[in-house]
Amino acid sequence: MLDSSSKNNNNNSAMMTKIHTRIRTEPFNNNYDLVSKVLGRGKFAVVKKCVEKATQNEYAAKFLRKRRKGEDCRNDILNEIAVLEAAKANPYVVGLHEVYETSHEIILVLEYAAGGEIFNQCVAEDEDEAFTEDDVIRLVRQILTGVAFLHRNNVVHLDLKPQNILLTSAQPLGDIRIVDFGLSRQVDNKSEVREILGTPEYVAPEILSYEPVSTATDMWSIGVLTYVMLTGESPFLGDEKKETYLNVSKGIVDYSEEVFEGISHLAVDFLKSLLKLDPRTRVTAEECLSHLWLNTDSNSRNLITITATTTPTSTSTGDEQETSQSESEPESPDSSPELSDIPLYTTFPVQGDLKTGRDTFTFTESFPTRPEMQQELIC
Ligand code: ADP
Ligand code: MG
Repeated sequence: MLDSSSKNNNNNSAMMTKIHTRIRTEPFNNNYDLVSKVLGRGKFAVVKKCVEKATQNEYAAKFLRKRRKGEDCRNDILNEIAVLEAAKANPYVVGLHEVYETSHEIILVLEYAAGGEIFNQCVAEDEDEAFTEDDVIRLVRQILTGVAFLHRNNVVHLDLKPQNILLTSAQPLGDIRIVDFGLSRQVDNKSEVREILGTPEYVAPEILSYEPVSTATDMWSIGVLTYVMLTGESPFLGDEKKETYLNVSKGIVDYSEEVFEGISHLAVDFLKSLLKLDPRTRVTAEECLSHLWLNTDSNSRNLITITATTTPTSTSTGDEQETSQSESEPESPDSSPELSDIPLYTTFPVQGDLKTGRDTFTFTESFPTRPEMQQELIC
């Protein structure tokens, strides 16, 4: 949710306010029946389920107040609409059906995501309801596909968190839909965005130090989001907001076996490539999609975990550790074995070619044999 107290309106230049959708002014109730259920509520919006009278199709209607704290925020809403329009071609961004305007509100009629927030599964007490690693891999791939689409179009979401990632169905587990583009901005050469935005637990360190936001800012949040989906724990959450901000700015993450019991080392490596204090060293959404974790079936993934745990490598060097965590960044002392330990055991068939450029992995051709991979990991 927007931390409006610290929102800087100078960043309005990075908003997209030209929209193509026709804004309807006839009463919303003429065309839709509201179903009593409130789907969600924010500071300035309430989302309710509704049924289109003409088709009987279900939708989610997001009622957004135009005046907030005495200010006209119509442009913020137009920006949200413009982003939804720009992302129309991507299946993982929630669809926008229609827009209505009244004297004090704008109503977005959105595709209904019947499975609700992934937040519910993240905090599920019941093992059966919680995500498995395979579930997380499938959903994270979808999130990355949606976010990569936004980033290709120079749009950053800036509020990626489990409350803004919805599911088409909860059981069976459906597909994801990214929602809530209220804080989204355009990032290009024309304007620089520096703002305190978003939710403390998911906010990137550069936002706290008032440095420009970029697509890498979203990648940090995806790192936090993935951590929460895998472990059910929030890596930076403190007792108070101040403590959470301090934890984020230090960037210390607990990768211990205790937290990651039963979770692959590839997953840990994936997280490390995102939760880097320096945004320039974080992997991009496209690069993430090529990470071995998202491209390895569960049998092979478990094999990597078991062999890496039970048979420590004798050939890995300090340099190789650079592949997943820069030296300057703090790391928990009992962190899991590095991916650089793993090539020794990767004789299973995997599609792609592991390459490192910066700290990233790009999968392009066939999987290399051990000596090639050692060489590439060191570079
Ligand atoms: P806010 O800006 O107030 O956070 P959101 O767009 O995130 O507004 O909507 C608030 C909540 O409403 C979401 O977290 C979700 O629970 C619910 N919601 C939003 N859009 C939909 C949708 N399309 N389908 C189902 N539930 C939705
Ligand atoms: Mg929200």
